[in-house]
Amino acid sequence: MNEYDSNRIFDIVKQIGYIKTDKQENADCYLVNTCHIRDKAKEKVFHEVGRIKKIYSKKKKPIMIVAGCVAQAENQEMLKREPFIDVVIGPQSYHKINNILKNFQVNQKEDETEFETIEKFDQLEKIKNTNSKVSSFLTIQEGCDKFCHFCVVPYTRGPECSRSFKTIIKESEELIKNGAREITLLGQNVNAYKYIENGKEFKISDIINELEKFTELKRIRYTTSHPIDMTEDLIECYSYNKKLMPFIHLPIQSGSNKVLKIMNRKHKVEDYLDTYRKIININPTIKFSSDFIIGYPGEEKEDFEQTKNLINEINFINSFSFIYSPRPGTKASNLKEINNNIAKERLIELQAMLFKNQIEHNKSLENKDIDVLVENKIKDQNKYFGRNEYFNPVIFDCDRNDIGKIVKVNIENTNQNTLYGKIKNKMKAA
Ligand code: SAH
Ligand code: SF4
Repeated sequence: MNEYDSNRIFDIVKQIGYIKTDKQENADCYLVNTCHIRDKAKEKVFHEVGRIKKIYSKKKKPIMIVAGCVAQAENQEMLKREPFIDVVIGPQSYHKINNILKNFQVNQKEDETEFETIEKFDQLEKIKNTNSKVSSFLTIQEGCDKFCHFCVVPYTRGPECSRSFKTIIKESEELIKNGAREITLLGQNVNAYKYIENGKEFKISDIINELEKFTELKRIRYTTSHPIDMTEDLIECYSYNKKLMPFIHLPIQSGSNKVLKIMNRKHKVEDYLDTYRKIININPTIKFSSDFIIGYPGEEKEDFEQTKNLINEINFINSFSFIYSPRPGTKASNLKEINNNIAKERLIELQAMLFKNQIEHNKSLENKDIDVLVENKIKDQNKYFGRNEYFNPVIFDCDRNDIGKIVKVNIENTNQNTLYGKIKNKMKAA
């Protein structure tokens, strides 16, 4: 979502004459967009600001803005800790950036960290999305009301808020006109999307079905979905929607009901498996990926074993796994942490299992012809980059420009992350 937000911030500042520069040492304004989900992310921000500070040590400093969730959470603290920063601006206030820039005065610190999501959505509606990527992101929903005990999102992105259905379709049209052939719908709980317009309630399934009607759009994805919001209408989409990709990122966090309860996840492992089975019954080629938090307070050996059992049961082809990182202000931050060495050992063991699945899945695609949406050419080579239906990166030899098209690629070899091959033949108009 930060990538989407950064593009939108650029769309806004462009209106008052700002342009992007590759020359890091020549900027009038420098903006770092940030993530607060784990502690390392915050430290990265200060590191990055320190790096920029060095570049400008002997010249006029740019207006230094820190945007995003670290800005939201740390606001005044941040301005105090690093005087090089002039402005902190939260994820629900960035529509105000032009006012800040126009009225900026040296040495005057600005803190814009209100939750004004609806106002932001209204403002953004008036500004064209100029992103021109083949694979584009589109935010449909932000924030969260679920309050898992480990998570900062409800405090940094604010309460759950959905954008108007009409606005989303209008923005999709803009993106498709700019060249988008794949749209990934975004939200912290994207499948909790709900918007009432002209007396009708719209859900994410309505957006997916409406997007399918755009002939030029080839692929639809959504992330991140929450297990309890995988409703029947969304699951049903997999039985008829040809453009909805057979790959679902569905975080579970832990395979132990005891840990899920301490996390306040509001679902059990059985509920998750139920949803999983319903989906693969509709289409057995659908693959899953997930998020895991390892070493959560209260996680015992037996709980970890249950997480491993789940991984043996569902062949996740790609997942994110991290050691639990206590976040200030969350309920879990008051709980006793488990031994860090044990947590590290568990993470290594878990990742070995996940990576093995991932490697095996990629290997199973060797010597096969797969559909790849071509995204860009690799500089100075006769190679192109694209992705298959399961979102794996694919690099392939090709002597013609098929950017924006779906082509058949014969996969010759693979590693943990990437598939390599050669173009086969041009697919008939999809
Ligand atoms: N709303 C989605 C996930 C959004 S947050 C869901 O609930 O399914 C993205 C991921 O960050 C989470 O799935 C979780 O695995 C990870 N995460 C969040 N807070 C964390 C923390 N304190 N420590 C480690 N990982 C965390
Ligand atoms: Fe965070 Fe997701 Fe839980 Fe919301 S549902 S609090 S975003 S982990």
